[in-house]
Amino acid sequence: MNLQQKVKQTVQNYKLCNKKERVLVALSGGKDSTVTAYLLKKFGYNIEGFHIDLSMGKYSEKCLKAVQDLCKQLEIKLHIYDVKKEMGNSMCYLRSAIQSQKSLKNCAICGVIKKWIMNKEARKLKADKIATGHNLDDEAQTFLINVFKGSPDLSSNSGPITRNVGDKKFVSRIKPLFYIPEDDIKEYSKKMKLPVVYEKCPCAIDSYRIQVRKFMNTMPDKNKLNIVGNMEKLMKKIDRSPRDDSSKDDSGEPSGEPSGEPKDNEINYCEICGEPSRKKVCKMCELMKLK
Ligand code: SF4
Ligand SMILES: [Zn+2]
Repeated sequence: MNLQQKVKQTVQNYKLCNKKERVLVALSGGKDSTVTAYLLKKFGYNIEGFHIDLSMGKYSEKCLKAVQDLCKQLEIKLHIYDVKKEMGNSMCYLRSAIQSQKSLKNCAICGVIKKWIMNKEARKLKADKIATGHNLDDEAQTFLINVFKGSPDLSSNSGPITRNVGDKKFVSRIKPLFYIPEDDIKEYSKKMKLPVVYEKCPCAIDSYRIQVRKFMNTMPDKNKLNIVGNMEKLMKKIDRSPRDDSSKDDSGEPSGEPSGEPKDNEINYCEICGEPSRKKVCKMCELMKLK
């Protein structure tokens, strides 16, 4: 089966979305989210693009251009959220302010902020689903990181679709590339000549994930599939108690930190911003609480 057929199978078998639903694809300008949008459109789904402009200099400019080119090519609507305009400062500035008081990695901060924006904006736009570019390598890495950190249960909500679909304020996330190895996605994006920024984000710092990635790169893809397959088996047995998961953020970049997605049976709303949260105060408001 080729990549396209495999993705179609994932979308159909897991009922990720239907053709009446409005699906917002979180576009970063990278290969994974680009291929996600390209294929969903090719399969005839009703998609629109959503891009968060982080104002991180030249890199952000290139990403924005790639996303605009893609949406033009696919003839889909593009929604742009300008962090500087909406939140008053670039992501670099927000991060430095937070890091002056809290010891957190770049991606941990950026990931939480982007996730918060994504859910809020997707709801405003009345989207039924948010599609992200998470791939097989990301999912296997995340599971191993959680195991190495002694918390495999943090992966309990992993899968091609989030299971917390019942809450009206939480927009479900789907991952059509869940079973596709990263190298295959790269090759496909090049073959299809898609507008992609291949260089890594200059602010991506997550040494633990980088170590795990290096280790996993020595494995054949079938071992990665085994890891994810075993993870799914194990998670069925694990009690779905309160959790966070460590995964890539919505643009498909590694956040390296818990996502804080609420679960079916424990949807709360942040008492500050009103967004879905496991705790009284969501991660975003927790981050922004500077002295
Ligand atoms: S790699 Fe990290 S810092 Fe860069 S955009 Fe993604 S989450 Fe943000
Ligand atoms: Zn909040």
